[in-house]
Amino acid sequence: MSKKILAVLMGVILIGSGFGIEDRKISAAPKKKVYTVAIDAGHQAKGNYKKEPVGPGSKTKKAKVSSGTRGVATKVPESKLNLQIAKKLEKELKRRGYKVYMVRRKQNVNISNKQRAQRVNKSGASIYIRLHADAGSSGVKGASALYPSKKNRYVKRLSAKSKKLSKCVLKQYCKATKFKNRGLFQRDDLTGTNWSKIPVTLIEMGFMTNRSEDKKMQKKSYQTRMVKGIANGVDQYFK
Ligand SMILES: [Zn+2]
Repeated sequence: MSKKILAVLMGVILIGSGFGIEDRKISAAPKKKVYTVAIDAGHQAKGNYKKEPVGPGSKTKKAKVSSGTRGVATKVPESKLNLQIAKKLEKELKRRGYKVYMVRRKQNVNISNKQRAQRVNKSGASIYIRLHADAGSSGVKGASALYPSKKNRYVKRLSAKSKKLSKCVLKQYCKATKFKNRGLFQRDDLTGTNWSKIPVTLIEMGFMTNRSEDKKMQKKSYQTRMVKGIANGVDQYFK
C-alpha cells in the first residue's frame, strides 16, 4: 500500500468515527417536544353585546362576548372565577413543562370570542382550553365539556381530536374534584370554538347557581384540585 492510499484511508476512518460520535450525541439526547396550551378565561368584566359571525363565512351572528353567570352564594362573577383558574392552570402547566398562551390576564379587557380564537390560532398552540362555569336551576350540579360535532360547518375536521381532549380533561377534572361528570356535549353554535384552528374544548367547571359548588369553587384547596385535574387531562391527551 502506498503512503498516499494509507493517508486517504486514515482520513476516511477519522471522518467516519467523527460522524459516529455526532450520531451518538444526537441519539443520547432526543429533544422532547414542548407543547403550547392556549387558555381562555371565558367572559370579561363587562360583556360586549355587539354582534359577530358565529363562524368563518357565517351569516348567523351572536354577541361578541357575554357577561357570564354569577355565584349564587359568593356573588363572584363567572369571569373572575374563570380568570382565577386560568392563572393557576398556567402555573401548573408551566411547572409540568408546557408553554402556555393566555388569552387574557385581566378582568378589564374587551376581546370578542372570535378574536380570542384568532389570537389562539396565531399563538402556535396545539390545543385550546376554554374555561367556563355553568348556570341552571339551583339543584343542578356537576361539570361537562363541550366540543364541535362531525357535522359542524366550520370545524368538523377538529371534532375527533376535540372530543378526545374534552374527554381527557373532563374525566381527570371530575376525578380530582369529585364533581359529578355530566358528560360531553356536542355544540356547533359556539363562536369561540367555530373560529378555532386547533382541537378545542370548553369546560363547564361546575354550577355557580348551585350554592355548594359555587362555594367549593372559591376555596383555595378546591381550586388546586380543579387545576391539577385539568392539567392531568392535558397530560393524558398528549400521552
Ligand atoms: Zn361562561
